[in-house]
Amino acid sequence: MDLGLDNAVAVITGGSSGIGLACAQRLLDEGARVVVCGRDQERLDGAADKLNAGKDRLLAIQCDVLSQAGVEKMKGAVLTQFGRVDILINNAGASIVTTFAETTDEQWEQQLKLKFFSIIYPTRVFAPLLKTSDIASIVCVNSLLGLQPEPHMVCTSATRGGVANLIKSLSVELAPEIRVNSILVGIIESGQWERRYQADQTDLSKEDWLVAEAAQRYIPLKRFGKPEEAADSIAFLASARASYLTGTAIEVSGGTSRHI
Ligand code: NDP
Repeated sequence: MDLGLDNAVAVITGGSSGIGLACAQRLLDEGARVVVCGRDQERLDGAADKLNAGKDRLLAIQCDVLSQAGVEKMKGAVLTQFGRVDILINNAGASIVTTFAETTDEQWEQQLKLKFFSIIYPTRVFAPLLKTSDIASIVCVNSLLGLQPEPHMVCTSATRGGVANLIKSLSVELAPEIRVNSILVGIIESGQWERRYQADQTDLSKEDWLVAEAAQRYIPLKRFGKPEEAADSIAFLASARASYLTGTAIEVSGGTSRHI
Protein backbone atom coordinates (compact mmCIF):
# COMPACT_ATOMS: atom_id res chain seq x y z
CA MET A 1 0.00 0.00 0.00
CA ASP A 2 1.44 3.37 -0.99
CA LEU A 3 1.07 5.63 2.04
CA GLY A 4 1.53 8.74 -0.10
CA LEU A 5 4.13 10.21 2.23
CA ASP A 6 6.72 11.12 -0.40
CA ASN A 7 8.43 14.36 0.69
CA ALA A 8 6.04 14.94 3.60
CA VAL A 9 7.82 16.47 6.61
CA ALA A 10 7.32 14.59 9.89
CA VAL A 11 8.44 15.73 13.36
CA ILE A 12 8.86 12.84 15.80
CA THR A 13 9.38 13.69 19.47
CA GLY A 14 11.52 11.17 21.32
CA GLY A 15 13.02 9.78 18.13
CA SER A 16 16.36 8.64 19.51
CA SER A 17 15.31 5.11 20.47
CA GLY A 18 12.49 2.58 20.63
CA ILE A 19 9.19 3.39 18.96
CA GLY A 20 10.25 6.88 17.86
CA LEU A 21 13.40 5.62 16.15
CA ALA A 22 11.51 2.80 14.38
CA CYS A 23 8.92 5.33 13.29
CA ALA A 24 11.62 7.58 11.85
CA GLN A 25 13.00 4.68 9.81
CA ARG A 26 9.51 3.72 8.59
CA LEU A 27 8.68 7.24 7.47
CA LEU A 28 12.09 7.64 5.78
CA ASP A 29 11.44 4.35 3.94
CA GLU A 30 8.15 5.87 2.76
CA GLY A 31 10.01 8.84 1.26
CA ALA A 32 9.20 11.35 4.02
CA ARG A 33 11.65 13.89 5.43
CA VAL A 34 12.05 13.36 9.15
CA VAL A 35 12.90 15.36 12.26
CA VAL A 36 13.76 13.48 15.46
CA CYS A 37 14.35 15.03 18.85
CA GLY A 38 15.42 13.95 22.32
CA ARG A 39 17.23 15.46 25.30
CA ASP A 40 20.50 13.52 25.06
CA GLN A 41 22.76 14.59 22.20
CA GLU A 42 24.85 11.41 22.26
CA ARG A 43 21.77 9.19 21.89
CA LEU A 44 20.52 11.44 19.10
CA ASP A 45 23.83 11.17 17.26
CA GLY A 46 23.65 7.37 17.59
CA ALA A 47 20.11 7.42 16.20
CA ALA A 48 21.12 9.64 13.28
CA ASP A 49 23.96 7.19 12.46
CA LYS A 50 21.52 4.28 12.45
CA LEU A 51 19.01 6.13 10.27
CA ASN A 52 21.79 6.94 7.85
CA ALA A 53 19.88 9.55 5.82
CA GLY A 54 21.36 12.70 4.28
CA LYS A 55 20.84 16.21 5.69
CA ASP A 56 18.21 16.82 3.02
CA ARG A 57 16.07 14.02 4.56
CA LEU A 58 16.89 13.99 8.28
CA LEU A 59 17.26 16.52 11.09
CA ALA A 60 18.21 15.21 14.56
CA ILE A 61 17.84 18.01 17.06
CA GLN A 62 18.25 18.24 20.81
CA CYS A 63 15.00 19.38 22.44
CA ASP A 64 13.23 18.79 25.75
CA VAL A 65 9.54 18.76 24.86
CA LEU A 66 8.71 19.93 28.38
CA SER A 67 10.09 23.35 27.49
CA GLN A 68 7.84 25.40 25.20
CA ALA A 69 10.80 27.67 24.40
CA GLY A 70 12.78 24.56 23.41
CA VAL A 71 10.00 23.35 21.14
CA GLU A 72 9.74 26.83 19.55
CA LYS A 73 13.49 26.67 18.87
CA MET A 74 13.08 23.25 17.26
CA LYS A 75 10.28 24.64 15.06
CA GLY A 76 12.66 27.37 13.86
CA ALA A 77 15.28 24.76 12.91
CA VAL A 78 12.68 22.63 11.11
CA LEU A 79 11.46 25.62 9.11
CA THR A 80 15.01 26.57 8.17
CA GLN A 81 15.81 23.05 7.00
CA PHE A 82 12.52 21.87 5.46
CA GLY A 83 10.22 24.93 5.27
CA ARG A 84 7.06 23.11 6.37
CA VAL A 85 5.56 20.44 8.61
CA ASP A 86 2.86 17.91 7.64
CA ILE A 87 2.99 15.37 10.46
CA LEU A 88 3.61 15.54 14.20
CA ILE A 89 4.21 12.32 16.15
CA ASN A 90 3.89 12.98 19.89
CA ASN A 91 5.90 10.03 21.18
CA ALA A 92 8.40 11.30 23.80
CA GLY A 93 7.86 9.92 27.26
CA ALA A 94 8.53 7.29 29.88
CA SER A 95 6.52 5.48 32.51
CA ILE A 96 7.02 4.56 36.17
CA VAL A 97 6.15 1.35 37.99
CA THR A 98 4.50 2.28 41.32
CA THR A 99 1.41 1.45 43.33
CA PHE A 100 -0.76 4.22 44.81
CA ALA A 101 0.89 3.75 48.22
CA GLU A 102 4.38 4.07 46.74
CA THR A 103 3.80 7.07 44.47
CA THR A 104 5.12 10.32 45.90
CA ASP A 105 3.66 13.76 45.19
CA GLU A 106 6.79 14.54 43.17
CA GLN A 107 6.22 11.47 40.99
CA TRP A 108 2.56 12.42 40.45
CA GLU A 109 3.57 15.94 39.44
CA GLN A 110 6.41 14.72 37.22
CA GLN A 111 4.23 12.16 35.40
CA LEU A 112 1.28 14.56 35.01
CA LYS A 113 3.63 17.14 33.53
CA LEU A 114 5.41 14.66 31.26
CA LYS A 115 2.29 12.97 29.89
CA PHE A 116 0.27 16.16 29.30
CA PHE A 117 2.85 18.76 28.33
CA SER A 118 4.73 16.40 26.00
CA ILE A 119 1.57 16.69 23.91
CA ILE A 120 0.48 20.23 24.80
CA TYR A 121 3.69 22.08 23.87
CA PRO A 122 4.48 20.38 20.52
CA THR A 123 0.81 20.52 19.48
CA ARG A 124 0.49 24.19 20.44
CA VAL A 125 3.71 25.14 18.64
CA PHE A 126 3.25 23.06 15.46
CA ALA A 127 -0.54 23.30 14.94
CA PRO A 128 -0.44 26.66 13.07
CA LEU A 129 2.15 25.22 10.66
CA LEU A 130 0.30 21.91 10.27
CA LYS A 131 -2.85 23.84 9.34
CA THR A 132 -1.11 25.05 6.18
CA SER A 133 -0.60 21.44 5.00
CA ASP A 134 -3.21 19.56 2.92
CA ILE A 135 -2.38 16.28 4.69
CA ALA A 136 -1.92 17.48 8.26
CA SER A 137 -2.05 14.91 10.98
CA ILE A 138 -0.95 14.31 14.54
CA VAL A 139 -0.42 10.83 15.98
CA CYS A 140 0.08 10.40 19.72
CA VAL A 141 1.69 7.35 21.29
CA ASN A 142 -0.55 6.50 24.21
CA SER A 143 -0.84 3.38 26.34
CA LEU A 144 -3.50 0.71 26.76
CA LEU A 145 -3.08 1.44 30.50
CA GLY A 146 -5.22 4.53 29.92
CA LEU A 147 -8.24 2.26 29.27
CA GLN A 148 -7.15 -0.78 31.26
CA PRO A 149 -5.22 0.40 34.34
CA GLU A 150 -2.74 -1.77 36.20
CA PRO A 151 -2.49 -1.31 40.00
CA HIS A 152 1.32 -1.60 39.89
CA MET A 153 1.43 1.33 37.44
CA VAL A 154 -1.27 3.50 38.96
CA CYS A 155 0.27 6.87 38.17
CA THR A 156 1.15 6.03 34.57
CA SER A 157 -2.31 4.49 34.04
CA ALA A 158 -4.22 7.48 35.43
CA THR A 159 -2.23 10.01 33.43
CA ARG A 160 -2.64 7.92 30.24
CA GLY A 161 -6.41 7.93 30.79
CA GLY A 162 -6.37 11.72 30.97
CA VAL A 163 -4.25 11.90 27.84
CA ALA A 164 -6.79 9.77 25.91
CA ASN A 165 -9.40 12.35 26.87
CA LEU A 166 -7.14 15.24 25.76
CA ILE A 167 -6.44 13.57 22.39
CA LYS A 168 -10.19 13.20 21.74
CA SER A 169 -10.76 16.89 22.47
CA LEU A 170 -7.88 17.88 20.18
CA SER A 171 -9.31 15.78 17.35
CA VAL A 172 -12.52 17.82 17.51
CA GLU A 173 -10.96 21.25 18.03
CA LEU A 174 -8.32 20.87 15.30
CA ALA A 175 -10.69 19.32 12.71
CA PRO A 176 -11.10 19.49 9.80
CA GLU A 177 -7.61 20.86 9.05
CA ILE A 178 -5.65 18.43 11.25
CA ARG A 179 -6.51 14.80 11.96
CA VAL A 180 -5.54 13.64 15.46
CA ASN A 181 -5.26 9.93 16.29
CA SER A 182 -3.34 7.70 18.64
CA ILE A 183 -2.00 4.22 19.15
CA LEU A 184 -2.57 2.40 22.42
CA VAL A 185 0.59 0.49 23.12
CA GLY A 186 0.67 -2.68 25.18
CA ILE A 187 4.24 -3.76 25.79
CA ILE A 188 6.84 -2.95 23.15
CA GLU A 189 10.54 -3.93 23.43
CA SER A 190 12.36 -0.62 23.66
CA GLY A 191 14.83 1.47 25.65
CA GLN A 192 12.49 1.31 28.66
CA TRP A 193 12.64 -2.50 28.65
CA GLU A 194 16.41 -2.54 28.05
CA ARG A 195 16.74 -0.41 31.23
CA ARG A 196 14.46 -2.75 33.20
CA TYR A 197 16.44 -5.78 31.97
CA GLN A 198 19.72 -4.18 33.10
CA ALA A 199 18.19 -3.19 36.46
CA ASP A 200 16.95 -6.76 37.04
CA GLN A 201 20.57 -8.05 37.09
CA THR A 202 19.31 -11.45 35.95
CA ASP A 203 21.41 -14.31 34.59
CA LEU A 204 18.89 -14.79 31.77
CA SER A 205 19.75 -13.64 28.26
CA LYS A 206 17.69 -10.63 27.16
CA GLU A 207 15.68 -12.83 24.79
CA ASP A 208 14.83 -15.39 27.53
CA TRP A 209 14.07 -12.59 30.00
CA LEU A 210 11.61 -11.02 27.53
CA VAL A 211 9.91 -14.39 26.98
CA ALA A 212 9.61 -14.86 30.77
CA GLU A 213 8.24 -11.34 31.23
CA ALA A 214 5.68 -11.87 28.44
CA ALA A 215 4.61 -15.20 29.94
CA GLN A 216 3.70 -13.46 33.22
CA ARG A 217 1.21 -11.25 31.37
CA TYR A 218 -2.03 -12.01 29.57
CA ILE A 219 -0.87 -11.44 26.00
CA PRO A 220 -2.75 -13.65 23.50
CA LEU A 221 0.09 -13.32 20.94
CA LYS A 222 2.49 -14.49 23.72
CA ARG A 223 5.27 -11.98 23.15
CA PHE A 224 6.12 -8.30 23.47
CA GLY A 225 5.70 -6.15 20.38
CA LYS A 226 8.56 -4.79 18.30
CA PRO A 227 9.03 -1.04 17.87
CA GLU A 228 8.59 -1.59 14.11
CA GLU A 229 5.10 -3.01 14.74
CA ALA A 230 4.08 0.16 16.57
CA ALA A 231 5.71 2.24 13.82
CA ASP A 232 3.61 0.57 11.11
CA SER A 233 0.36 1.66 12.78
CA ILE A 234 1.71 5.16 13.40
CA ALA A 235 2.73 5.52 9.74
CA PHE A 236 -0.71 4.37 8.60
CA LEU A 237 -2.54 6.82 10.89
CA ALA A 238 -0.24 9.64 9.80
CA SER A 239 -0.83 8.93 6.11
CA ALA A 240 -3.52 9.88 3.63
CA ARG A 241 -4.64 6.22 3.70
CA ALA A 242 -6.26 7.15 7.03
CA SER A 243 -7.87 10.31 5.63
CA TYR A 244 -11.30 9.64 7.19
CA LEU A 245 -9.92 8.72 10.61
CA THR A 246 -9.71 11.24 13.41
CA GLY A 247 -10.19 10.90 17.17
CA THR A 248 -9.60 7.18 16.93
CA ALA A 249 -7.04 4.82 18.45
CA ILE A 250 -5.39 1.64 17.19
CA GLU A 251 -4.47 -0.84 19.91
CA VAL A 252 -1.00 -2.32 19.35
CA SER A 253 -0.86 -4.81 22.19
CA GLY A 254 -0.92 -8.38 20.86
CA GLY A 255 -4.57 -8.55 21.95
CA THR A 256 -4.05 -7.62 25.61
CA SER A 257 -7.23 -5.59 26.15
CA ARG A 258 -10.20 -7.39 27.70
CA HIS A 259 -12.94 -4.98 26.66
CA ILE A 260 -14.91 -5.38 23.42
P1 NDP B 1 12.37 4.76 24.80
O1 NDP B 1 12.89 5.02 26.17
O2 NDP B 1 13.07 3.81 23.91
O3 NDP B 1 12.24 6.15 24.02
C1 NDP B 1 11.77 7.32 24.63
C2 NDP B 1 12.22 8.49 23.78
O4 NDP B 1 11.66 9.70 24.33
C3 NDP B 1 13.72 8.68 23.77
O5 NDP B 1 14.11 9.12 22.49
C4 NDP B 1 13.94 9.78 24.81
O6 NDP B 1 15.17 10.44 24.56
C5 NDP B 1 12.72 10.64 24.53
N1 NDP B 1 12.30 11.54 25.59
C6 NDP B 1 11.92 11.23 26.86
N2 NDP B 1 11.59 12.35 27.52
C7 NDP B 1 11.77 13.38 26.66
C8 NDP B 1 11.61 14.79 26.76
N3 NDP B 1 11.20 15.39 27.89
N4 NDP B 1 11.87 15.54 25.67
C9 NDP B 1 12.28 14.98 24.52
N5 NDP B 1 12.46 13.65 24.37
C10 NDP B 1 12.22 12.87 25.43
O7 NDP B 1 10.86 4.33 25.05
P2 NDP B 1 9.66 3.81 24.11
O8 NDP B 1 10.03 3.81 22.68
O9 NDP B 1 9.14 2.60 24.73
O10 NDP B 1 8.60 4.95 24.43
C11 NDP B 1 7.94 5.73 23.45
C12 NDP B 1 6.60 6.15 24.00
O11 NDP B 1 5.77 4.98 24.13
C13 NDP B 1 6.67 6.79 25.39
O12 NDP B 1 5.77 7.85 25.48
C14 NDP B 1 6.26 5.64 26.30
O13 NDP B 1 5.75 6.07 27.55
C15 NDP B 1 5.19 4.97 25.42
N6 NDP B 1 4.88 3.61 25.83
C16 NDP B 1 5.80 2.60 25.69
C17 NDP B 1 5.50 1.32 26.10
C18 NDP B 1 6.46 0.18 25.94
O14 NDP B 1 6.16 -0.94 26.36
N7 NDP B 1 7.61 0.37 25.33
C19 NDP B 1 4.21 1.02 26.74
C20 NDP B 1 3.30 2.11 26.80
C21 NDP B 1 3.64 3.37 26.35
P3 NDP B 1 15.98 11.21 25.75
O15 NDP B 1 15.90 10.35 26.97
O16 NDP B 1 17.36 11.38 25.22
O17 NDP B 1 15.27 12.51 25.93
